[in-house]
Amino acid sequence: MKQGKLIIFSAPSGAGKTTIVKHLLTKFPSLSFSISATTREQRGDEVHEKDYYFISKEAFLHKVAHQEFVEFEEVYNGTFYGTLRSEIQRIWDAGKHVIFDIDVEGGIRLKRKYEADALAIFVQPPSLEVLKERLTGRGTDSPEKLQERFTKAEKELEYAEKFDVILKNYDLEVACQEAEKLVADFIAS
Ligand code: 5GP
Repeated sequence: MKQGKLIIFSAPSGAGKTTIVKHLLTKFPSLSFSISATTREQRGDEVHEKDYYFISKEAFLHKVAHQEFVEFEEVYNGTFYGTLRSEIQRIWDAGKHVIFDIDVEGGIRLKRKYEADALAIFVQPPSLEVLKERLTGRGTDSPEKLQERFTKAEKELEYAEKFDVILKNYDLEVACQEAEKLVADFIAS
């Protein structure tokens, strides 16, 4: 496969997109996860070069200067995340389609760039309140970081209309099934 397709999952953090993306990866052997580069600290259960390429801010900015990113974002104040061109190429070279778990602005940027080759899915949580509960319950962030995530989530919910599809995640099992159908149809198209 010279160029595969791109399946983009975006949502405010806590909406459940990571769980849905992980589910899809178990269902579709032709999909491969786009490992982003980030300057965020590695969390306990995360694996370098599997969940993210954890790199220093200096290394990240060096890559920015050398145009190594297809898109990148200062997702949170001082914390950068980005998709490397080499990552997409690595996956296409392996004959697979790329699946992304990225923030809303990054998702919109990728969709604009790849147009019909990309399916951009916005995962919508039941409400901002539920989102806040999920983020708080995760227990991985400090109160300041949580507040930053809430503020960003509120803004991101307004971007849903810019995506090809809005996938409601009110019930995870239903959302996973719907996601499977969307992906199967898009891959076959
Ligand atoms: P987390 O710190 O929870 O892993 O991720 C924070 C946010 O950054 C999430 O919304 C995640 O999807 C997003 N993100 C992860 N990788 C990328 C990327 O390569 N580009 C952009 N724009 N956002 C990303």
